Amino acid sequence: MADPVRPLIAGNWKMNGTSAELPELKRIADGVEGTRSDSPYDALICVPATLVDRAVRTVVGSPLAVGGQDCHGEENGAHTGDISAAMLADAGATHVIVGHSERRADHGETDIDVMGKALAAHAQGLTAIVCVGETRQEREDGRAMDVVDTQLAGSLPEHATPQTTVIAYEPVWAIGTGLTPSLHDIEAMHDHMRDRLRERFGTAGALFRLLYGGSVKPANAGEIFGISSVDGALIGGASLKSDDFLAICAAMPAR
Ligand code: PEP
Repeated sequence: MADPVRPLIAGNWKMNGTSAELPELKRIADGVEGTRSDSPYDALICVPATLVDRAVRTVVGSPLAVGGQDCHGEENGAHTGDISAAMLADAGATHVIVGHSERRADHGETDIDVMGKALAAHAQGLTAIVCVGETRQEREDGRAMDVVDTQLAGSLPEHATPQTTVIAYEPVWAIGTGLTPSLHDIEAMHDHMRDRLRERFGTAGALFRLLYGGSVKPANAGEIFGISSVDGALIGGASLKSDDFLAICAAMPAR
């Protein structure tokens, strides 16, 4: 059965981007605007925190949303260098990525931390994009689904809804490597996650957006978007260039 969920195509600029890249963001905004009337997807770019405010002003009037890449789990306080969900919302962000594998690896973030961040995002009206995904070793050991189950169970707040929460399946070994799972493996994981979400959230579980992330490029976006249980993508490297990001957007079929 066709998946009824409206797709989201989200970019993650990671630690890339200064004011010099705002014209590139504008080109993305103009490109997605070109398909506004019949666009089969929503579009988002998650920029570095320093750029959120200027990015929002750069894309104003276009359908492109702007998000952050992380937030602290606390509302405010003595956390030097951290960014709160309220700060992102105040700057105009509508979404925030939480639990990206680079945060889990570089900063030791646990599922409990990620859930706290998602809760903080929700409290500020931000949509949390919760990332999960196995390492190469975990896949080779046949544990990919168990790992993702544990991350989903531990990272998703009990009150998460399809309106407040997006889930991105990002195999760690596919991020920034040019490697991707087979289409069969992506479909199997997305179907599996959908089953887990239905078990936990009932009928609402069918409506969460399930993004795939990991080396999505113009050359492979069409076949990945052809999987009915893939509701869009989280894109790192290829979101930095407007031509690439817009080519990926163009590969999204009408549903
Ligand atoms: C990411 O940063 O979430 C990501 C998927 O990166 P890339 O597309 O470069 O693999």
